[in-house]
Amino acid sequence: MKRISIVVPVYNEEENIAHFAAAVEEVMGRLPYDYELLFIDDGSSDRSREILRMLGERDGRIGSIFLARNYGHQLALTCGIDHADGDAVITMDGDMQHPPELLPQLLKKWEEGFDIVQTVRLTTEGVSVFKRMTSTYYYRLLNLLTDVEIQEGGSDFRLMDRKAVLALRRYREHARFIRGIVCSLGFRRTTVDFVAQARYAGSSKFSLRRMISFALDGILAYSVQPLRAGLYVGLMSALLAVVLFLHVLFETLRGETVPGWSTIVVCSLFFGGMQMMMLGVCGEYIARILQEVKDRPLYLIACDNRPQAAEKEAHDG
Ligand code: UDP
Ligand code: MG
Repeated sequence: MKRISIVVPVYNEEENIAHFAAAVEEVMGRLPYDYELLFIDDGSSDRSREILRMLGERDGRIGSIFLARNYGHQLALTCGIDHADGDAVITMDGDMQHPPELLPQLLKKWEEGFDIVQTVRLTTEGVSVFKRMTSTYYYRLLNLLTDVEIQEGGSDFRLMDRKAVLALRRYREHARFIRGIVCSLGFRRTTVDFVAQARYAGSSKFSLRRMISFALDGILAYSVQPLRAGLYVGLMSALLAVVLFLHVLFETLRGETVPGWSTIVVCSLFFGGMQMMMLGVCGEYIARILQEVKDRPLYLIACDNRPQAAEKEAHDG
């Protein structure tokens, strides 16, 4: 029987975990697959860990790995993908925004021979206009700036065949934007549309600050266009300087002087600002280079509660 790994990062989801696990069990129980439900606890401080331990004791198909602290959604996902041993790996959120009812559809596409089945979020129920608009325009900008075509409305709810999983595991960058990496992998891909429900319980763990940092990761990890912006601005200002010089020359030949302290102030402020901005852009890239060359571990595991881990320990001991 083929084995499916379902990887779910959770962070302070005490009210959602049991409900989610039951919903998955309900759907997967009807399908002819062996499966593991692997939760990655991303440093929760509520009762999530207690609940995960309890679920694991009751059901041998449910395992969990506890990270040493909060590493963020993308790294928690990475840990899950690194440890999932199924023939196919499905990643999804634990708050019911990624409906488990979609699982049979993803598996069907996989059986048809697709290696990556990406879901596309058509709309999200109960989400502000602000979040929807920023998301749409963000993906447009991203596609404008980068070479890889990144799915608009793409989410981290997807199925990957084992060979795509092994390929993805070879990407060890710290600032990660998994959707971008998956889009650049290749393989046989297809998409499945869905409407994301509102969260079952609790609130979103993504603050505006985290969203901005995630958005920056997406752009800076996939594009060097921002660095090139300095070149364009420089060329433009040089052109402007030539035009201004011709104007001054013309007026001087006519015997007039060009009054212009305000022009000087505006120009120096504008170009001073531009220079600082480009310095900031360079700084962002340099900070990322520093982070990557340090090559620290992506995440640390505090406790591995998978049945496989217990067996291995017994064997080793
Ligand atoms: N999550 C995580 N670590 C974090 C933040 C979130 O593992 O630092 C998990 C969270 O528990 C959920 C999933 O990632 O299962 C998606 O997070 P959330 O629902 O808050 O994001 P949104 O759906 O609002 O984009
Ligand atoms: Mg959510």
